[in-house]
Amino acid sequence: KAAQFAEQWGWHLYLVGGAVRDLLLSETGSLLIKDIDLVVDGFHQAADVGAGVKLATALQEFYPAARLDIHGAFQTAALLWHEDPEFDSLGIDIATARTEFYPYPAANPEVEASSIRQDLYRRDFTINAMALRLTAATTPPLLDFFGGVGDLQTQQIRVLHPNSFIEDPTRIFRGVRFAIRLGFHLETQTTDYIRYAINSGVYDRTAQANPKTPALQTRLKTELKYLLQAPYWRSALELLSDLGALQCIHSTLKLEPELVRQLQLLERCLQRFDVTHSQHQPQLIHWQLRLETIIAAIAPQFRQPVAKNLQLPEDVIERLANLDRSQTQILSSLPTFDRISQVVQLLKQFDLSMLILIAVRCRNRNIRRQIWRYLTVWAHIQPPLTGNDLRRLGYKPGPQYRQILDNLLAATLDGVVIDRDTAEAFIK
Ligand code: ATP
Repeated sequence: KAAQFAEQWGWHLYLVGGAVRDLLLSETGSLLIKDIDLVVDGFHQAADVGAGVKLATALQEFYPAARLDIHGAFQTAALLWHEDPEFDSLGIDIATARTEFYPYPAANPEVEASSIRQDLYRRDFTINAMALRLTAATTPPLLDFFGGVGDLQTQQIRVLHPNSFIEDPTRIFRGVRFAIRLGFHLETQTTDYIRYAINSGVYDRTAQANPKTPALQTRLKTELKYLLQAPYWRSALELLSDLGALQCIHSTLKLEPELVRQLQLLERCLQRFDVTHSQHQPQLIHWQLRLETIIAAIAPQFRQPVAKNLQLPEDVIERLANLDRSQTQILSSLPTFDRISQVVQLLKQFDLSMLILIAVRCRNRNIRRQIWRYLTVWAHIQPPLTGNDLRRLGYKPGPQYRQILDNLLAATLDGVVIDRDTAEAFIK
């Protein structure tokens, strides 16, 4: 339908980006695509510079179940189908080829080729810079100006121009993501361009709070999220580290053996925790905890600025700011306790993610075990009597209930109270 509308207005419509790559990679030539990127091109009236928006608006009228979002003046529009059984959360982005306005008819193939070519040249890698023409074509429908098909065959991630990573350092993270996800390798010169960009200090733009580049920090966070929530996150981190690209998070950040050890412990902890406690606890956000563990490997004074820079949620920023103080408090107090109730009293002041962070950072196995016992067992123990029982036993309702129940809980944790009888005896 989109192609029909475009043709009706005398434009060309292309499928671009990841969908073309994935179609060419799919063995059957068919694929369920959830994110479709379209580019409109070939218009010849100044009024048509908003072609993408005009097309999206027409499509929305045709498919009223879709939600239409327009980004920026005349730039791009998105159609989203949520919970629609027919479309199953499909998203279509429609952009207007980013080019100068050409005062020639769209039928002129040179003009057409030059504007879609420019649009594709602004993209990241050759395999993501191909277009498939959806409107009637006189030439073959696949546009591959930069050798994307060849790179798909030789399984290479190749950047389009030498300055690409200097222009946008988040492309380093994208390149690593595609390389690991597709089982491809970074082409040699592309690797050199990445190293060159890092050596020339490109990370200053991503790793430092810069009010001028909030979009860059947002993109970095998005890329980190994609990488750290993927099953291949370890290999991705290793490759980023080999390239020196972790400096884009902070100039001192390296994947030292100690950080690798912590990340391994974190995985064990997350797996066991999800199995044991998925119903009782808020779901842990795995990628975010991996990122927090990584940020926590930086010197304490830089953690909060890095988290802020990456626009992480407030609770994460606060946790990283308080991590050192909380860790010192826990590591110095736990060894002095001889009762479980003391451990619970202390640890209940901290949130689950903070305790997991501290546990994975802690080298003392005993302390780690105590935190783990607390999280999985002790934190869930209840005293054998409730407020209702106290009322039944003749205690007057009031603030003393809290005190009695707290004492009862401590006695239960410490094994003094074991059932309702010992509990009743205890409170008397
Ligand atoms: P995925 O399958 O992971 O969604 P994708 O290729 O569709 O991969 P998107 O992030 O949705 O990735 O981006 C769509 C297209 O936009 C890419 O294929 C690429 O052509 C272009 N693109 C995205 N981010 C950048 C960037 N930082 N620099 C240049 N081009 C980009």
